[in-house]
Amino acid sequence: MSKIFYKSSEDIEKIRESSLLVSKSLAEVAKNIGEGVKTIQLNKIAEEFIRDHGGTPAFLNYNGFPYSLCISLNDQVVHGFPSEYVIKDGDIVSVDCGVILNEFFGDSAYTFPIGNVDPETMKLLKVTKECLNLAVEKAVVGMRVGDVGYAVQEHAEKNGFGVVKELVGHGVGVKLHEKPEVPNYGKRGSGIKLEEGMVIAIEPMINAGKAGVKFWEDGWTVSTVDKKTSAHYEHTVAIKRGKADVLSSFEYIEEVLKQKD
Ligand code: MG
Ligand code: MG
Repeated sequence: MSKIFYKSSEDIEKIRESSLLVSKSLAEVAKNIGEGVKTIQLNKIAEEFIRDHGGTPAFLNYNGFPYSLCISLNDQVVHGFPSEYVIKDGDIVSVDCGVILNEFFGDSAYTFPIGNVDPETMKLLKVTKECLNLAVEKAVVGMRVGDVGYAVQEHAEKNGFGVVKELVGHGVGVKLHEKPEVPNYGKRGSGIKLEEGMVIAIEPMINAGKAGVKFWEDGWTVSTVDKKTSAHYEHTVAIKRGKADVLSSFEYIEEVLKQKD
């Protein structure tokens, strides 16, 4: 992580454009994801979509990461590799996407249920998205990073789920990962003060079972220790007075999913 970069309102508009390109790229993934699709195909679709819209995939070659998307299946938490794996009924597929557009970064992630997913995992997806929304409500001037983390942790644990602690949200915009770190756990009123001009990626990673994770020898993939499922939703958010400004959007994705139903 570098330092905290404070953004002007012009910068924030550029980060909004980057973030919306991420959101629209995830909507392209939504159009194409389903049973019988290889995850590497989704990577190609997103990469082409990003480039066709003047962006650069932010993850490709980031610290040597070899793909444009992180695609994490079932018990994988984050940073999974797109592959020849063929998506099947009952899978959940977490897709994380980042772009650089006009020199600014956007970052967002969504977990897609495929076909008939078991009820406990469907509850995990619902609760993880609720955790994100509750955290976004705290992303306002006067709150601290610990208030954001507390909101996630409290809601996840109340529902009996495990909060991943080894990986955290982050400042974003000038770089992919800036300060401050934004953990998905914390104490109310603790940590760095949120101020106007800060843009952060809030990204709860919540496990159906135990909180523990393991790191794979590929240097990237993270999965749950107990092999139970894990969900991940992420927004890029500008800190404001009164109400956070969510720069990415799930509307494009969810519009596609509704039409596919
Ligand atoms: Mg991300
Ligand atoms: Mg992120």
